Amino acid sequence: MERPENKGKLIVLDIDNTVFNWVEYYVACMCAMMDKVSLLTGIPRDVLFEESRPVFEREGSIEYPFLIQELPSVVAYYEHDIPRLMSEAVHAGRQAFNTAAETSLKPYDDVIETLQNVKTLYPEVPIIALTDAPRYVAMWKLNKLGLLKYFSAVYGLPDPNIPIDEETQEVKVEKEILLKHLQKSKFGFVGRIRILPEDYEKPGTKGLKTVLMDHDMESHLSDVLWIGDNLRKDVGLGKRLGVHTGWARYGTVIRADAIDILLQFSPRSNIAKNVALDPMSAESPQPDITLESFSDIIQAINTVLFKS
Ligand SMILES: [Mg+2]
Repeated sequence: MERPENKGKLIVLDIDNTVFNWVEYYVACMCAMMDKVSLLTGIPRDVLFEESRPVFEREGSIEYPFLIQELPSVVAYYEHDIPRLMSEAVHAGRQAFNTAAETSLKPYDDVIETLQNVKTLYPEVPIIALTDAPRYVAMWKLNKLGLLKYFSAVYGLPDPNIPIDEETQEVKVEKEILLKHLQKSKFGFVGRIRILPEDYEKPGTKGLKTVLMDHDMESHLSDVLWIGDNLRKDVGLGKRLGVHTGWARYGTVIRADAIDILLQFSPRSNIAKNVALDPMSAESPQPDITLESFSDIIQAINTVLFKS
């Protein structure tokens, strides 16, 4: 059966380094947070960064939001005085992170205007967010970026574990924050939210497959445009599934000093997850379309989805 022109199409977007510069944002916030904790405790930033790696590894995310309270040297400094740990290092550290986010967590220049254009030109075409960030963290970021309203659905990995002190059994999260996590805050989002199992992480195809199934698109692959910044991961999985695949090349342009700092607190496996370190090579999956800026998505939609 013929599908109406403007219906039955789907746009799926990666988030980090596709709609905003994740690396520069996260490095700026981690530096601000750890400098603050270092100031309060006298523990050098290098040590705090180094101790962050195993926490991120254990929690399965470099964006684990309850990091400070899990750092051994910080817990030792407060001698398991959890209320003091929470009211000093965690509170001030979180504030420093959020203050840094106010300036560093911004969409790429043309993102808002372009998403508005897409919505005007193709109001029937849903835009879906598919990310390897924990669902809660992904929505926190999209909300701060002012982008949530453009999405029809958000697909992310499981929400972060709530940390509990081994000795005192106390919950190590500030009350108001804990409430938001326990209530699975949607940040006012009215669209569909799907939490994917851990093993649906990219470059596996299960996450995008779930998006396609939820939208009845499994047998309409040529009506799907999937865009991400990571050739090996995002483009690779799109090619394997057979959807149209766009490479956000602009998302691979990251300041070298930011990458250097990222390497100080990130396990190698997590870096591969969040940033494409390898340049394009003959072996890289070849995208159908390369985007030099986010606004190129309009041309991509016209060309591959509407063949005009
Ligand atoms: Mg990405």
